[in-house]
Amino acid sequence: MKKNLIAGNWKMNKTPGESIEFVENLIEKLKDKDYDDRDILICPPFTSLFPLSKILQKDKKIKLGAQNVYCEDKGAFTGEISPEMLKEIGVEYVIVGHSERRNIFGETDELINKKLKKVIEYGMKPILCVGEKLEEREEGKTFEVVRNQLENCLKDVKEIENVVIAYEPVWAIGTGKNATPQQAEEVHVFIREWISNKYLQDVAKNLIILYGGSVKPENIDSLMKEKDIDGVLVGGASLNVDSFLRIIDYKGE
Ligand code: PEP
Repeated sequence: MKKNLIAGNWKMNKTPGESIEFVENLIEKLKDKDYDDRDILICPPFTSLFPLSKILQKDKKIKLGAQNVYCEDKGAFTGEISPEMLKEIGVEYVIVGHSERRNIFGETDELINKKLKKVIEYGMKPILCVGEKLEEREEGKTFEVVRNQLENCLKDVKEIENVVIAYEPVWAIGTGKNATPQQAEEVHVFIREWISNKYLQDVAKNLIILYGGSVKPENIDSLMKEKDIDGVLVGGASLNVDSFLRIIDYKGE
């Protein structure tokens, strides 16, 4: 059965000690909850992955994700982390193509495509982020931008079953301005149709498409009521246990 996914992207926040404290607190607060329709994912900084993997091997309620990876198996790539390193410590998901990676670190669709394929090769699930900038939305180019990103980042990708797509309009990330549920839904429908045309209808139906961009306790319920929103990728509001818990505990339909 397809499950929704509530994912926290901590970005460059929390030391290993702070991460452990957060996760232990979250586990305690989730003690009496038993969701069978949603998965919970945390993507901490690299330095927190190992200590958290030790905790999460025992408590399976929360899955572990990385925020980035390199596209080679091993070698002289100073400062990079390989897919095997992530796989060995129990990382299940890897974010690729986040707009901060694209815009601050200059990552191209071509590099993102290579990373995504490596993540699949190592049996993990890539979360591919796509989304338009404000000026692109204002020029009516949202669908064109998203289509180009999908085409380039999924080039020669055959196994789409384990790919998660996150629609993250750049103008909504960390700005407090979220897309309305209707604005998000229409892009999600577009993405699902694109996948359906390129792959199989059944695959598109089961594809998990997340919305990301200023998701908060105040807007989670209305977002999750939309038919094609299968979860969220949350930045700022995932840094506080209580606000993340309220997002995890969304009331959808
Ligand atoms: C993100 O980092 O992917 C994100 C959506 O951030 P925020 O929720 O803070 O807008």
